Amino acid sequence: MAKILLAEDEGVLRMLISDTLEDEGHSIVEACSGKEAVGIMEAGGTFDLVILDYMMPVYTGLEVLTRMREMELKHFPPVLILTAKSQDSVRQEVLASGASGFMSKPFSPMELSERVEALLNEMEK
Ligand SMILES: [Mg+2]
Repeated sequence: MAKILLAEDEGVLRMLISDTLEDEGHSIVEACSGKEAVGIMEAGGTFDLVILDYMMPVYTGLEVLTRMREMELKHFPPVLILTAKSQDSVRQEVLASGASGFMSKPFSPMELSERVEALLNEMEK
């Protein structure tokens, strides 16, 4: 079981992702904005994996990642970015940001589960 922080501003998608990962036995903390996600981590919340929507108001997913770097976290978790944009420029930006990876929306629950398990297994090595 992993503790996962999920920041996604679309409520229906947030619920879907959360339900999917909870079914896999993980514990999910939901944030409806990048700002809320930053607040949770600044308050000392630690996670095995952080999932960030790319496009959110106030702080984008990548801005949250930048803020995480500034926090000097003891254990820096893998960060998975969700993006609705398939343009190469966004892909490049996400990969250059040092995120562990990204998933393009829409994705199936199974694709998400597999990706999350792969990232968590990488961490254990
Ligand atoms: Mg969004």
